[in-house]
Amino acid sequence: MTDTLISGELTDEELRELAERAGRKLEDASATEILQWATDTFGPRFCVTSSMEDAVVAHLASRVLPGVDVVFLDTGYHFPETIGTRDAVDAVMDVNVITITPRQSVAEQDAEYGAKLHDRDPDLCCALRKVKPLEDGLTAYAAWATGLRRDESPTRANTPVVGWDAKRRKVKVSPIARWTQDDVDAYVLEHGVLTNPLLMDGYASVGCAPCTRRVLEGEDARAGRWAGRGKTECGLHG
Ligand code: SF4
Repeated sequence: MTDTLISGELTDEELRELAERAGRKLEDASATEILQWATDTFGPRFCVTSSMEDAVVAHLASRVLPGVDVVFLDTGYHFPETIGTRDAVDAVMDVNVITITPRQSVAEQDAEYGAKLHDRDPDLCCALRKVKPLEDGLTAYAAWATGLRRDESPTRANTPVVGWDAKRRKVKVSPIARWTQDDVDAYVLEHGVLTNPLLMDGYASVGCAPCTRRVLEGEDARAGRWAGRGKTECGLHG
């Protein structure tokens, strides 16, 4: 069986097997080779998701598939710099930026759950503003790419380059899983890739403004996310 544009006919179980087989086969492949496999296999049913921390994966994917869909989840709590990065990516890169939003605005959520839900119950806030909207936003796709890297934190150390996202029943592609921060920096420099200005201002990982702080010397890249709240992931990748 070839992997070319077959995803539409496959059952979830067959897709899972396809993903796991590809993960083993592509473990040592380059990011471009991994993305080439993904676009060859899924065609328009493949997208990149981006938090607009940087546009590295979007840039890599656009070179393989010009006009590739780049899905951005606007939680309503982003830093202005993140929205600006999204707008710049949309303006200058050969990608199709698709912004998805939660069902409720922040004001509507405040009215139903009370203000600053992120301080009182960040898991619920992430479920409402991240997990559910992304699940809905990915409905049209069989596979999605992320910018996850193994060196970001212990929770990401086993990220496969291609794996099965059991929660959403989709193939999850992490083409730069094996990259280091130095690899990212070198790629950004070489290709002039857009990055979020906050990365130059002490933030190593950029999420929603109320739940993100600068990292301190010696901390891992995600230490500034939900600091002091006993939470390290939003549920998108758990
Ligand atoms: Fe809410 Fe914070 Fe999660 Fe954003 S990161 S959805 S503000 S809890």
